[in-house]
Parts: sequence; structure tokens; C-alpha cells
Amino acid sequence: MTEAEIDGEAAAEKLSVEGLTAYLTCPRRYEFAHVHGLEGGDDDSTVDDRVGLLRTAICDALRGGKTDRETLAATARNRLEALWADHDERFHSRTQRRHERRVLEATLEAYVERVGVDHAAGIERLAADAAGGELIGPELPVSSTVSPPDGGNGDADAVTIDATVDYVYGDGSSVVGVRFVPTLAPLGLLRYRSDWEGSVAEAFTDHFDPDADAFEPSLVGSLFETAVVIDGLRDRCERLGLEDRTCRYVQIPLADRSRTAVNWVRETVETSLDLADLTDVYIDHHTYGMTHEHRNRTVDDRLAAVVGRLTAGAFDPTDRWDDISDAACPDCGYTVCCQDYLSQEVRFDG
Ligand code: SF4
Repeated sequence: MTEAEIDGEAAAEKLSVEGLTAYLTCPRRYEFAHVHGLEGGDDDSTVDDRVGLLRTAICDALRGGKTDRETLAATARNRLEALWADHDERFHSRTQRRHERRVLEATLEAYVERVGVDHAAGIERLAADAAGGELIGPELPVSSTVSPPDGGNGDADAVTIDATVDYVYGDGSSVVGVRFVPTLAPLGLLRYRSDWEGSVAEAFTDHFDPDADAFEPSLVGSLFETAVVIDGLRDRCERLGLEDRTCRYVQIPLADRSRTAVNWVRETVETSLDLADLTDVYIDHHTYGMTHEHRNRTVDDRLAAVVGRLTAGAFDPTDRWDDISDAACPDCGYTVCCQDYLSQEVRFDG
């Protein structure tokens, strides 16, 4: 077994949807981060920590079981206040700290207003129908098992890919998984389309076409994530005795400042919340017609092929070097230790 194959085996022990997107962005970056465990310099932990506060406050409020607007909002606000008191973050001033707290409170209000009450009622309905099982996280695990095709990792029969949702609720005949994210920006085109057929299918297939001028790792990674989450939800439904339900996946952004308005004189912050249901841009009607399940054969087949390459230890980025050096290297935290990047720099300077 070659060193790359041994690395591939180590990588395959724990595959995540975040890891898959990293692999699509640059296989070498995936190797540094997920196989060798090297820390990159692109640390977004401040934003992630703030999203984590809201995620916990909202989930705890939903767990309280109240579905009226005032009680739900008050429970979430009180929980956020307690979490914020213990929150350790460096601010330039007290004014900035106060401002950041107001932004979080405004986001919380916007969540309750836009979807919180409906989702709380949907959780209550689903709990009544389900045969037990946890419906509220944060970060409930869901996973999908993928079989790489022949020619990928010949030794691996199946690989499990992990993802998370923050809660699950019932909406008519569907079970919906919701995940809080910082922003919807990584979705790109998926935010603005409601169907797979057409420009989404084109962008997805072009990413893998060597003759097409396209590099869409975030879009492809988001569709892979949707495939994994929906498959994981199907599995969860079976365990809950809800196999007749279809499954959907929704992302809600909690750190999107583009919809935030600040009045510095009155010291008030207002914001509104967008959300993205990724189900309809994922499913293709042909596969749905054949299986009556929310699936997409093209995405699922490509997911298995990518997993096969990853688990076989294919980390060389040179076959997509132009795309990777343009789109990924400039913001990469591994430039100082990356031989692919350094050798290109030397050649360029020479
Ligand atoms: S520097 Fe470029 S080639 Fe090297 S790991 Fe980062 S993105 Fe990949």
C-alpha cells in the first residue's frame, strides 16, 4: 500500500460534508487539514462562536416547548443573555460589545418573527407523530453511507459521511432538517434558483467537465451536503416510524449583516432573516418520479465518485491547477508549507 493510500484510509475514517467541500476546493488543502491535522491560518472562529451562541439560545428555547411568540422570544432572549455573560471575546470598547450584543438580539427577534413560531409548532406536531427520538440539537448528527464506484478506493465498500442539523420539524407530509449557518453566501446560484433543471444542473456538471470553464466547489459542496442531510433524515424518519414522509433541508443564516440596519443615534439595530430551502434545487424530477424520494441521481453518483477519489488518496491538485491557483491559493492558510504552491511561485519568479 502506498503512502497516499494509507493517508486515504486515515482520511476515510471520518468524512464530513465540510471536508468534502475542502476537498473540492483543493485536495491538497484537504490533505493538510483533514489527514495531517495541520491548522490553517484562515480562522473564522469569532463569527462561528457568535453563531454558536444564537444556535444554543434558539435550540434551548425551542426545547422549552412553548409555541406562542412572546414566550418563545422571551425564553430565547433570556438564554442569550446568560450565554453572552459568559462569552469571552476581545472587543475594542464597551460600545462595540454592546453593539454586537444588540445585533445578536435583533437576529434572535428576526428568527422568531420569520420562522420561529411556525417551526416550534412543527416540532410539537412531529414529536406527537414520532416514536421517540431527539428532534432538537444543536448539531444533531445525520449521516449518509456512500459506496464508491469501482476504480475509486478498491478496498472501501462503503464510506459514511457526517453532517449535522440543529433541529427537525414537521411540515405537512415533510420532515424538515434546519441548520444554522453564518451566511448563505457559499450557496451562490443555489440561493436564487428554485429548480435543479437548467442553470443549477449546468453549473454542477460543468464543475467536473475539463473542457468547461467552471470552478464551483461551494455550490457542488452545498449540493453534496444536501444529499447527505436528506439521506440522513430519511434514515432518521425510518427509525422514528415516519417512513412515509419526504425529507427537506433548510439553512438559516445567523451572521448575515447585509440585511442589518443600525441607528447609531438611537442605538438600535434592526434586521430581517432570509432562508434557503435547498430541497428543490437538489432533487431532479426524473429520479423523484422513479423513487418517490427526494434524490438526485447525478449528484449522488458524483458524490460517490468524489468520495472514491478522496479515499484513494488522490490529493494532487495539478490537474485543476489553473482554477485552484486562481480561486483557492490566494486565501489559503497553507501557502507557507505547500510544495505545489511554492514550486509554482519559484517557477513564476524565475
Ligand atoms: S496553497 Fe493552494 S495548492 Fe496549496 S493547499 Fe492551499 S489552495 Fe491548495
